[in-house]
Amino acid sequence: MKGRFAPSPSGRMHAGNIYAALVAWLVAHSCGGTIVLRIEDLDRERSKREYAEAILRDFAWLGLTWDEGPFYQHDRIRAYDEAFQWLLSHDMLYPCFCTRAEVSANAVRAPHFGEKRVYAGTCRNLAKGEVERLMRSRVPSWRVKVPDKDVAFDDGVYGSYTQNLAQDCGDFLIRRSDGAFAYQLAVVLDDADEGIDSIVRGVDLLPSSPQQLWLRRLLRPQADDPQYAHVPLLVTAGGKRLAKRDHDASLDELKKRYRTAAGVIGHIAFVGGLMPIEEPITPEELKGRFSLASYRVWVSGNIAVPWAS
Ligand code: GLU
Repeated sequence: MKGRFAPSPSGRMHAGNIYAALVAWLVAHSCGGTIVLRIEDLDRERSKREYAEAILRDFAWLGLTWDEGPFYQHDRIRAYDEAFQWLLSHDMLYPCFCTRAEVSANAVRAPHFGEKRVYAGTCRNLAKGEVERLMRSRVPSWRVKVPDKDVAFDDGVYGSYTQNLAQDCGDFLIRRSDGAFAYQLAVVLDDADEGIDSIVRGVDLLPSSPQQLWLRRLLRPQADDPQYAHVPLLVTAGGKRLAKRDHDASLDELKKRYRTAAGVIGHIAFVGGLMPIEEPITPEELKGRFSLASYRVWVSGNIAVPWAS
């Protein structure tokens, strides 16, 4: 089994990133697997080299080891472009001229998936002449046409999950108007090409998994489906997802408070249901006690995990 860490180098690590990486590491290692480290630096404006370097140092310090990489998305532009051209030549893409404000004003709320907003399909059927006219004054983004089709999979933590791509997801971005390839395209190609078969990450990405699975089957038909496991988000006392600005959950703060890597891991493992008591522990020691089945039972009663440090 091959899992991955896929951090975006847009800030310093915090308890939420470490928790997801720790579970990814445990899932892979508890069945003799390995970990790939991929730096998701697709967003050139927000990504910074010093953050990427800090991530490598922090994972190493925490004992969250990796076996392959680091791979960088900035080295993969050719692969993304090839897939983009393939989709274009198969008539699966269309240019979208909507501004961000128009996209959100017209978005349809997916019936069952909470916050997910579905693109209304405004530019899907523009006449050829209209596209040509708009092309002269605006640089479009590019969306993929999703079929009216259910995609289902069994999440290792949340159980069975289904989305209808047309209703719950909508035509999604493959390339942004600034020319950058979209996260959804890059992550699918990277996971398949790096041979990833275990995808463990925060539950905020659960609603992205059906579209990624569909795109993976389309663009990399020879790759088997990966196993997904989504972990709960750590939230503030007010119920908000932990963010880089929540200083008491930043790794720097945790280092000050718990001093050793085992202390930090022990605290996060306890808060996140991986340990019944709080005590210093290394990922290696935790591995012997980890079972996805019992973790799944714990998560079923702890959908959001309050962070109290
Ligand atoms: N790069 C994303 C993040 O740091 C994770 C993407 C993924 O795991 O698919 O939030």
